[in-house]
Order: sequence, then C-alpha cells, then structure tokens
Amino acid sequence: MKNNDYDAIVIGAGFSGAVAAREIADSGKKVLIIEKRKQIGGNMYECFDKDGIRIHLYGPHIFHTNNEDVFRYLKRFANFYKYEHKVIGKIKNRLVPIPFNYKSLDILFNKTEATEIKKKLSELYPNIHKISVLELVNNNDETIKKFGEYVYENVFANYTAKQWGIPVSKIDKSVINRVPVVLGYDDRYFDDKIQYMPEDGFTELFKNMLESENIDIKLNTNILDIIKLRDGKTYIADKEYINPIIFTGAVDEFLEYKYGRLPYRSLNLVFENYKVDKFQENSVVNYPNEEEFTRITEFKYLTKQRTDRNTTILKEYPIMYNEETAKKSDPYYPIQNEKNMETYNKYKNELEKYNNIYLVGRLAEYKYYNMDIAIERALNLTSEIMEEKEWKIKSK
Ligand code: UDP
Repeated sequence: MKNNDYDAIVIGAGFSGAVAAREIADSGKKVLIIEKRKQIGGNMYECFDKDGIRIHLYGPHIFHTNNEDVFRYLKRFANFYKYEHKVIGKIKNRLVPIPFNYKSLDILFNKTEATEIKKKLSELYPNIHKISVLELVNNNDETIKKFGEYVYENVFANYTAKQWGIPVSKIDKSVINRVPVVLGYDDRYFDDKIQYMPEDGFTELFKNMLESENIDIKLNTNILDIIKLRDGKTYIADKEYINPIIFTGAVDEFLEYKYGRLPYRSLNLVFENYKVDKFQENSVVNYPNEEEFTRITEFKYLTKQRTDRNTTILKEYPIMYNEETAKKSDPYYPIQNEKNMETYNKYKNELEKYNNIYLVGRLAEYKYYNMDIAIERALNLTSEIMEEKEWKIKSK
C-alpha cells in the first residue's frame, strides 16, 4: 500500500499512538504508524539484556489508574498481575518509605516527637489520607510547619533540584504534588484502585495491540522524510494528504525548531549487571540527597522474573535534553512553566492551521501525563475523529 492510501497516519508507537492506531484499525480503516525508533512501545519498551534479565530500556514504567475503562481496554491485549509499587528512600542514611508516611516518621524521629507530630496531624487533618508537603510547610502550627520543612528539605528539595536542574522553588507545584505526604501507614507509592503490570511485559502488550491486518508500521523512519507541511496542507510524495494525521511526537521537532527548542529534562540511564540474586531490598530506592543519581531500580522486582544468578539495576542521572545530548538521550519530561508554554503554544497554534493534524500524548501536548491519562486521551481523541468521519468501531 502506498503511504498516500492510508485512512489515517499515526506518528509514534508509544501508548498514545498505539491506542489511536488500534481504535482506527478496529473500525476497519487502514492505518500507517511511523516510528522513528527501531521498535514499538515508546518509553514503555522492555527487552532482555545480555544476562537475560528483562529491563525497561527507557526507565521504569509502572501502571496504575482509577479509570476502570482504561484498564478494561488494556486487558484485551495482555494478562496482568497485581503489583502495588513501593519505594524506599535513603534519608539521613536510613532507608524509609516514600511517600513519607508514619512509618518513615517513626524511623527518623524519636518516639516523643513522632507521637506529637502524628497526634497534631490527625487533629488538623481528620479523615485525610494524604496531603501536599507544601501545605505542611505553610501550616501555622509550629510543630507541623517544622515537620513539613524537614520532609521538604530531606525528600523533595535536592531530588527535585537534581531531577529538574533548577531550584525546587521554581518548579511547578503539580510536579511536587505527584508525591504526597501520607497521613497514615499506607506505604504504597500510588494509592490508585488499580495497580497491575502486564504479565509478559509492555512490549508484548504493544505487539498484541498493534497486531491487526489494518495496521502497518514503518520503524526507523523520520516523519519529515514522509510528510511535508506547507501552508496549512500536508503532503506525501508531493500529493496532498487530507486524512487524519495523529501526531504523538515532539512538536518542535515536527516544525524543525522554527520557534526554538522546547526544553525537556532527560536521563542518562546507566544499567549495571551483577552476579547476585538481588542487589537491593526493594524495586526502587530513591536517593534524594548525596548521590548524583536520583534512584536505582532493580527490574526483577517489577517483572517478577525468577533467576537467582544475575540481576540488573538502573541508575538514573538527570540531564538536560538539548542539541548536544539529543544524540544519546530522549526528551522524557516536559518542563512546564509560563515561558515554555508560550513557546509550546506557538507550535500548537501553527499546527492547528492544519485541520487534519491532531496532537496527543506527553510529548505532543507537552504535559507530564501518566500512562493511563495518555491512553484515556488517545481513546477520546480517536472517538472524536471517528465520530466526525462516521467511522464506527466494529465489534471487537
Ligand atoms: N520527588 C522528590 N523526591 C522523591 C520522589 C519524587 O522530590 O523521593 C519529586 C520530584 O520533583 C519528582 C516528582 O516528585 O520529579 C515526581 O516524582 P515521580 O516519582 O512521579 O517521577 P517519575 O517516576 O515520573 O520520574
């Protein structure tokens, strides 16, 4: 089939693109996915390393949601096992649960202090299970304020400065608030109702999702080699292409950086292999303070792979994503602030002039979405497109 003949083109084979492609394919329409990497799965991609350990090549990805529809949708493509993620962090040379909770408090404070803080918290916030550290820091009660400052300094300030390369005071509050302080003993990293991982990993899930006679995939392919943008119209091989183009990549790259580069944080991912059963006591250990890396993930805990001879870990060293680092790294985290949103909006406004181009996903929307939100947004967008086109989902 020629590129021009597809009913829709999807750019990117991460969750946003794969879900959009599958939905359109299920309505009997032909879809072409263009992916610049040599494999599908976006940043969820998993593979086996030289020691046969299954790793998340672009850093750990853990699925959690409160959206039952999203989970039901994913279950069409994989079996899942329950996995409630827990994180511990090295604070003052002790390993304590993160999010900071009453267990962490009991470890780091003496009994009298811990009792007083817990008593005050339960008086001030009855029936509240989690709270922003910023709320504690701004509390009028001296004990609670001091406690908040302790958590802020020891858990958030240095980690955030490392992760984002700017002082914690400059970071959007929504980033900090992804990790609350828990007012109780629940030591799970997420409190969503649904916390599951795909039994054979994300790559297999993606393979099943994209397994359709209506989907073709071109890997290792740069979008600009196929699609040209000119004055509000899209062209493939010099012929105008009027069908939907669902774009999930970075908008600045799509428009050849004409308004400058959009800043992203990235990671230098350093994998290490060890000839031991286990390296650490938990899937993820955070290092907010002294170390240069932010966290160490040991994959066996996430994937439940059984092998007692080897283990593979990942250390994450935050870096800036720019022209220089782009060859070796990827744009992982959009840095949301007023200035960057202004730049982003220039790209978005320009792309909106093309009425067959749709933007969806973490990169294309320049938003720090979790997997479930990306999936939900891709489902919503495709149902809008299909409604408009009167393409109907056939029975699945
Ligand atoms: N964070 C922190 N200390 C921690 C864990 C997280 O300060 O021990 C802050 C930090 O700013 C980080 C944000 O919370 O960027 C979100 O953390 P999350 O674990 O959600 O990040 P991701 O897994 O998406 O990298």
